[in-house]
Amino acid sequence: MNAGMIPQHVIDEVLRRLDIAEIVGKYVHLSKHGKYLKGLCPFHSEKTPSFTVTPEKQIFHCYGCGKGGNVIKFVMEMEGETFPEAVRRLAGELGISADWEPAGRHSPSPQQQARDRLYEAYAYSARLYHYVLRNTDAGIAAMDYLRTRGFTDKMIESFVIGYAPPRRDTLVQALQRQGFDLAEMERGGLLRRQENGEYADRFRDRIMFPIEDGAGRIVAFAGRLLSDGQPKYLNSPESMLFSKSRTLYRLHQARPSIRKSRQVVLFEGYVDCIKAWSAGVHNGVATMGTALTAEHASMLRRFAEEVIVCYDGDDAGRAAAHKSIPLLEAAGFRVRIGMLPGQMDPDEYISVHGPESFVRECIDNAVSAIKFQLIYLRKSHILSEEDGKIRYLREAVRLVASRDSPTERELLLKDLALEFGVSLETLKQEAHDIRMREKKGKTGDIPGGTWNNVWNDKRASASLPNIPPTYVTAERQLLCWMMQDADTAAIVQERLGDDFHAENHAAIAAYLYAYYAEGNEPDVGRFIAYLQDDRLERIASAIALMDVPFGERELEDCIRTVSLVSVDREIERCMEASLHAAREGDVLRAAQILEQKKSLEKKRKELQRPGGF
Ligand SMILES: [Zn+2]
Repeated sequence: MNAGMIPQHVIDEVLRRLDIAEIVGKYVHLSKHGKYLKGLCPFHSEKTPSFTVTPEKQIFHCYGCGKGGNVIKFVMEMEGETFPEAVRRLAGELGISADWEPAGRHSPSPQQQARDRLYEAYAYSARLYHYVLRNTDAGIAAMDYLRTRGFTDKMIESFVIGYAPPRRDTLVQALQRQGFDLAEMERGGLLRRQENGEYADRFRDRIMFPIEDGAGRIVAFAGRLLSDGQPKYLNSPESMLFSKSRTLYRLHQARPSIRKSRQVVLFEGYVDCIKAWSAGVHNGVATMGTALTAEHASMLRRFAEEVIVCYDGDDAGRAAAHKSIPLLEAAGFRVRIGMLPGQMDPDEYISVHGPESFVRECIDNAVSAIKFQLIYLRKSHILSEEDGKIRYLREAVRLVASRDSPTERELLLKDLALEFGVSLETLKQEAHDIRMREKKGKTGDIPGGTWNNVWNDKRASASLPNIPPTYVTAERQLLCWMMQDADTAAIVQERLGDDFHAENHAAIAAYLYAYYAEGNEPDVGRFIAYLQDDRLERIASAIALMDVPFGERELEDCIRTVSLVSVDREIERCMEASLHAAREGDVLRAAQILEQKKSLEKKRKELQRPGGF
């Protein structure tokens, strides 16, 4: 049950020393309601709070989306970390030794050591560049430039913007003084090797923007040349830490906001991302000098359902946005496009029209993917000519036909019909024909737009009233008491053993027996950590929140309810078996089974009698 390589005592100490209310309070505004603290759930979008924290049990649970668990679980969900990652980081913050690799693997691999050194070097370089910008004469011109471009002190601080001076070896010397190996730093992308064999700074006379990975560690830089020259923009090369196709600028900081809104805004450049942040768009990320990849899309899909693509308003930006649509839709996103007028990029738009207008016009009023595709399509046809008009209409209808929603199709076709003076019926017929042809092309295939299907399914099942059978409630009740008291667990173990009928309940019971057998004290938060199974953790935390007072009578009732189901199932099995035996002509066997059935029925009667057993 031990979490891979993390010793139980480390997990225990983390749980003991961290207060869930304090940790959650960093992310969620909580208010007190009796034994609970309540707030708006950070994991799903809601207007009235259904997210609760119970300090007494050191657990959280959301009645809206069902997420729940202990403080480690909360941090894992918030930061997108694995269990070992979360424990390691929390232990580090508490100053608990992180040296817990089992014997034989005491020292990290040479590869890991090299990575660690490089992380350290990037962090150091970022601090150095930031210092040069803020505190030295060499940084004055860069500061002036940033101010004219609308960067405030707050932005410079929170994005750790820096300046790499023009000298050839500022960083070379600094890294050398810190004891870093220059050849290693060159391989890691911080330095360059000149033709004469000497090392030189890769970034010179550039405004420096540190790029972090998903865990918030600096893994690369983007540098913008301060004086005239080429290349104007330079990014770190790919390295053992940095992969363009997997890195999204600002993902680490934007994640809580993305998760909460289930929406992410995608930018083409880091400056757009920073400016949008200052305009209040905190769920924005940017690709780093590369087109959007399927890897980017699937990374984001873990946190969001909708993407707003907010690329430049020029032809290149529109083309890139157009290209991103099928990729994002394939990942299951609902896609909208922020329309920037007059060839502007988001940075310019915010400078000219202000942050409120940006949020309203480009984010809130972003158009649907299909609307954007139609606008885009128009640009490539000459609509003043009859021929161009027909070709446009035909392609437009094909696009519309690919949409799954009949209502959406109808509305879009109506617009087209009205604009081009064609009858709606004709367009509908054409769209219908296209859909039929497509369907034949891929028989048995579920049409695209999986997002819509998933969404609809979720809605449908959520609206169905769901009343659990009585034994399910009884099992939950038992588990709740068992988590709080070892003696109760022992009684249930003796009487029911693993005879829980809901599979998840049986699993939790088995874990509880093992947990107490190992000499552990009752502790809900600790037990949940012991489970290390996402599904079971959620169920256990929901169960732990049940507030049913314990009583001997109630305990007996619950055990009886659960036992009755077992007996009923046994009786059913007997009936089937005796029928089978009779059909086979095995009279003796049939008689034996009937005897068995009789004793089961007797047992059933006893169980039903109050105070029975
Ligand atoms: Zn929730």
